[in-house]
Order: sequence, then structure tokens, then C-alpha cells
Amino acid sequence: MASKEGTLVLLSGGQDSTTALFWAKKRFSRVEAVSFDYGQRHRVELKHAAKTAALARAGHTVMPVREFEAIKYSALIKGAKRGKKDRVNKKLPATFVPGRNILFLAAAASYAYTKKIHNLVIGVSQVDYSGYPDCRRGFLSAMEKALSLGLDYRIKIHAPLINKTKKETVLLAKKLGVLHYLKHTHTCYEGKTPGCGKCAACVLRAKGFEDAGVEDPLFERR
Ligand code: ZN
Repeated sequence: MASKEGTLVLLSGGQDSTTALFWAKKRFSRVEAVSFDYGQRHRVELKHAAKTAALARAGHTVMPVREFEAIKYSALIKGAKRGKKDRVNKKLPATFVPGRNILFLAAAASYAYTKKIHNLVIGVSQVDYSGYPDCRRGFLSAMEKALSLGLDYRIKIHAPLINKTKKETVLLAKKLGVLHYLKHTHTCYEGKTPGCGKCAACVLRAKGFEDAGVEDPLFERR
């Protein structure tokens, strides 16, 4: 039976957070979603997030997070330099946005607090996670503790995809019966719809569907 507690899903408009949103819908009777307008180059994802939230009948809020526009670092940020020599840690991909999930979780927790929501859901994976350090379980546990202490309010972070490969995430969406909703998701780092087919995100997504033996609804005729 679904928990009566409310939950807030961090919804980017991509495949993983969309799957996490529908996972939350099965477990919690009151589900809201929050997306972040953070100066991302592929701003189109906010449109996809709004569409997905509406289909899931989840309230949807877009919060501005403006720090990254001032910093102009990472290939995902509008107007930022993209050269390898500009990177602090060359082992991390150019798409790493330093502190993104720290700020997103803090903003989401502030919002949750005002709505008397204790549960946050984030669709990160530490398996196929492109090496992002803010997608690991250790980070999430520490954030959960920091947010609960800083707000003097219980915050629980759920990460249903944390140990899942892309293939397993596709299979979870299939099991939840929500594969068709992935038609409205955005993945491409280049901001292309349905995808450029070449960037790391497009390649990872395609491989996930292929390994799962499932056709990606993104490429169905519109
Ligand atoms: Zn792409």
C-alpha cells in the first residue's frame, strides 16, 4: 500500500528521474516534482519535465538555481568554456557541474520543508553515472544527514536507481508499466530531440535499451 507521507521528486525531464517519479507514484500517495532552471544548455528538458509531471498528475514547480550561470563551468552550462585544459579534475567528464546535486538537494529540501514533506526522491545511479561524485551513495547519506541537521527536520533521500545500470532502469520502467512515458523524456547533451545519437548521454541511453531488449519509445513516430 502507498505510504500516506508526501514525497518530492527531483525531476530533470530525463529518463532516470522520470522512472524515479513513477516509482514514487507507486509508493507514496502524495507526489510532487521539482525541476531546476540552472542555466543548462539543454533547457528544453524543463518542457519535458512539465509534460511528464502533468501525465503523472504530480504538482510541478521549477526553482531557479543561478550559481552556475555566474560560474560558467561545465559543458552543460550555457556560455561556459568547454576546453579540457579548463577542467579542474581531468578524470571527470566535461559535463560535470560542480556541486549540482548539492544545490539541488538543498533547494529541494527547503521546498519540502515548507510543504511538510519528509521524502526526497532522486534518480541518480552510481553504476552508469559518468563518474559524477555527487551521484554516489556516500554523498547522498551525508547530504541526508546534513539537511536533517540543518533544518532540524527529518529528511529521507530515496535513490531507487542507485545500484541500477541503464539496462536495469529500462527494465524497472517496464515492470512499473510506464515505458511509454519515456517518450516525453530528454537525454541528449546537445539539446536535440529525440537525440543526436552521438553524445555520451545518447549513447548510454541507446545501449541501455538495447541491452534490455526494449525499443526506446523516444524514437516512435510522433
Ligand atoms: Zn545526444
